[in-house]
Amino acid sequence: MSGRDAADGNGTRRTETEGDPETVVVGAGPVGAVTALYLAPRFGPVTLLEKREDPRRAPGGQGRSLVVMLSARGWRALSDLGVADAVRGICVPLHGRRGHLPDGRTRFTPYSRDGRPIWAVERERLHRILLDAAEAAPGVRIRFGQRVRSVDLDEPAVLVEDRHGRYRLTCRRVLGCDGAHSAARAALVARGTRAEVRTLDLAYQEIDVPGGRLDGAMTHYWPSGRAMFAAHPLPSGRFSGSLFMRREGPAPSYAAAAGGRDLYGMFAAHFPELTGAVPDIAEQLAVKAVSTLTAVRCDRWVWQDTFALLGDACHAMAPFMGHGMNCGFEDARVLAGCLGAAAGRAAGLAAGLAAYEKSRIEDADAISRLSYRHYFTMADPRRAETAVDVLRGRLTALFPDRFVPLYERCAFTEEGYASVLRDERRLDRLAADLLERHGTALVSASDDRLSACTRSLVPDTATLEDTGCS
Ligand SMILES: Cc1cc2nc3c(=O)[nH]c(=O)nc-3n(C[C@H](O)[C@H](O)[C@H](O)COP(=O)(O)OP(=O)(O)OC[C@H]3O[C@@H](n4cnc5c(N)ncnc54)[C@H](O)[C@@H]3O)c2cc1C
Repeated sequence: MSGRDAADGNGTRRTETEGDPETVVVGAGPVGAVTALYLAPRFGPVTLLEKREDPRRAPGGQGRSLVVMLSARGWRALSDLGVADAVRGICVPLHGRRGHLPDGRTRFTPYSRDGRPIWAVERERLHRILLDAAEAAPGVRIRFGQRVRSVDLDEPAVLVEDRHGRYRLTCRRVLGCDGAHSAARAALVARGTRAEVRTLDLAYQEIDVPGGRLDGAMTHYWPSGRAMFAAHPLPSGRFSGSLFMRREGPAPSYAAAAGGRDLYGMFAAHFPELTGAVPDIAEQLAVKAVSTLTAVRCDRWVWQDTFALLGDACHAMAPFMGHGMNCGFEDARVLAGCLGAAAGRAAGLAAGLAAYEKSRIEDADAISRLSYRHYFTMADPRRAETAVDVLRGRLTALFPDRFVPLYERCAFTEEGYASVLRDERRLDRLAADLLERHGTALVSASDDRLSACTRSLVPDTATLEDTGCS
């Protein structure tokens, strides 16, 4: 079996002399780099194929200011791989988020009840650290400017295109970490996998926000009904902002802005406080790219003993819980664990891949749902004031051992997201049941009365004295 052997675009055969890698990882984004770092020490040489040029060599970086949140799952991977200290050095700790409501009030929501922070990091800088680590790791090779055109699941092999033409690279397994618009995923789809790739009805623009006026220890957001502006602090003291609006439909939407009303006018109408805070907002809105958000759901992630998908390639999601990448890092850790556990068994590799798929799909689906739903929680300032939501908040405060706030559970534990979602639904049902039985007055009832009413429905909340509930 030759390592690299194929016809290029002009029909010239090309063979390269490197040995076959055990694993080919398609895509050297954050998840691809983490996957290579997990696999190489235990499962042999890994070649990462990346279609772009090396971002570390690009003058001025990639020109993106995207900030991502690192939570427990992300840190677990970074610690396992020995890069946590380097990453911590470029992070900003965040203790909560402050909502700047349209009526002038502010609303602070801590990320955890005991003051633990989550960590904000510029994705581009994190990516550079991961690429450096992968490049320095024995057994990992990164090749930039290599676009994978297709994956042969049977051999297995990848068909790659670079500036010299096309070639075929064989290996023992292919891992698709090539993002939401994955080419690798197409191989699974061709074998009957159902992949749903949706462009969400929201789009966003990255906006630079000067520091000084905002507290740099927290995320800030300005909800405006169905649009939202969020700002995350950077180590420089400035903020990385994101404007989220609907793509289509009645205002506020990018389509409405493009179709006559200007974007600045719409921005000023919805976020008047921010026009002063970002003096060059009109220029930024005019020149900065409008990006769409994609959600991916896939009903199979693996093929026999040759192929698996990880990260956005199988579960791109709305960004509002801050978990897409954290979840992708967790995929890599779980995959390495499943392959390790299955090694040496008769059906080893296939069993390992099947175990990986089984343990991840439901959780990825759950965090994707939670993430999309969280947009409406954040963007609509009235949401937190509905009877159900106020009651949910009170129940969570009253029974801290029974109900842990959603964000805290996702960010500070490694519990399966699916069980978090199930409990969220239970809490919704409980609040709705209580309101149905006792009316909306229960929202402002005393703690004693609320706990007694709750105890009558949920026996394991029976921690407070029974004060009687009619
Ligand atoms: C506004 C916003 C905010 C976010 N905030 C958070 C957050 O707070 N926390 C969090 O955890 N996540 C967050 N995310 C999600 C996070 O950015 C993604 O989940 C993460 O980047 C996915 O990593 P990935 O490596 O799977 O995919 P990508 O980052 O898309 O990387 C895929 C790589 O594959 C390469 N590639 C693609 N096709 C090919 C091909 N055919 N051949 C070779 N290479 C290929 C690409 O060039 C790219 O380098 C956010 C996303 C957005 C948009």
